Amino acid sequence: ATPTALMVGTGRGAQLGILIKGPEVLESTRKVDTIVLDKTGTVTTGRMTLLAVHTADTTTETEVLRLAGALEHASEHPIARAVATGAMDKVGALPAPEDFANVPGLGVQGIVDGHAVLVGREKLLQEWAMELPADLVRARHDAEAAGRTAIAVAWDGQARAVLEVADAVKDTSAEAIRRLRTLGLTPILLTGDNQAVAEAVAAEVGIDEVIAEVMPEDKVDVVKKLQAEGRSVAMVGDGVNDAAALAQADLGLAMGTGTDAAIEAGDLTLVRGDLGAAADAIRLSRRTLGTIR
Ligand code: ADP
Ligand code: MG
Repeated sequence: ATPTALMVGTGRGAQLGILIKGPEVLESTRKVDTIVLDKTGTVTTGRMTLLAVHTADTTTETEVLRLAGALEHASEHPIARAVATGAMDKVGALPAPEDFANVPGLGVQGIVDGHAVLVGREKLLQEWAMELPADLVRARHDAEAAGRTAIAVAWDGQARAVLEVADAVKDTSAEAIRRLRTLGLTPILLTGDNQAVAEAVAAEVGIDEVIAEVMPEDKVDVVKKLQAEGRSVAMVGDGVNDAAALAQADLGLAMGTGTDAAIEAGDLTLVRGDLGAAADAIRLSRRTLGTIR
């Protein structure tokens, strides 16, 4: 393409809310055939709310919210914010944890009021040889079948509760995915969240292929594997955990509403955090380069 065409394309991109790192990015944008979409914060709003608390035995909701809320208050994860906010609404001020650690892709652990507390995926509890009792397993299944994320809470060596959190699909996501398909791209939903939740969200927005329960450090391998199959891969993400995959992809699209790490790793930024701009970017690059050749 001529320098003029590239400049026009880049300028038009800015008008559409698409920031392009360099004119050469338009070429990779034109070629992609597969688009991998992060779930939380990309297809969904990422603004989660705490919807329900299920407790085992004699454990009270207040105890659960105090201990889990205190720990999550120290984390920036969208799930953590939902739990901490929901807890403060119901039980008021929360204690400061005496110890705290993020366990990426799994949850958080620490000490609150002298109790060793875990909050996160069932897998986090299993790593400490704890199992959810049958009634909490049922609560988890029901929540996930409804597309909600179930978070387990344990302390002092015992599983105590399941929390239900959920965020909404962005109202622009389904239409954007339909347009991406029309442009010949195959959408794939990629997430660290549970398979059942991922499938519920995928069904809601019209995606057939789901890759779920992927640890943050393994997202990049998913992209590599698709590339090894001969696909030209675009990746859309917002999180720190998406940065390596965004850099590996043939085209990395970062949500402008996301983290700095994602924006730095991407080739394009979708300023408004709207997937529709991904379809706009691909159409624009095909138009800019296509008409010139
Ligand atoms: P995603 O790929 O959807 O952005 P992550 O990789 O950040 O998700 O997290 C994967 C899963 O780990 C979450 O769906 C949740 O079950 C669990 N998890 C991660 N961080 C936390 C946390 N702070 N509190 C509770 N659960 C968490
Ligand atoms: Mg995300």
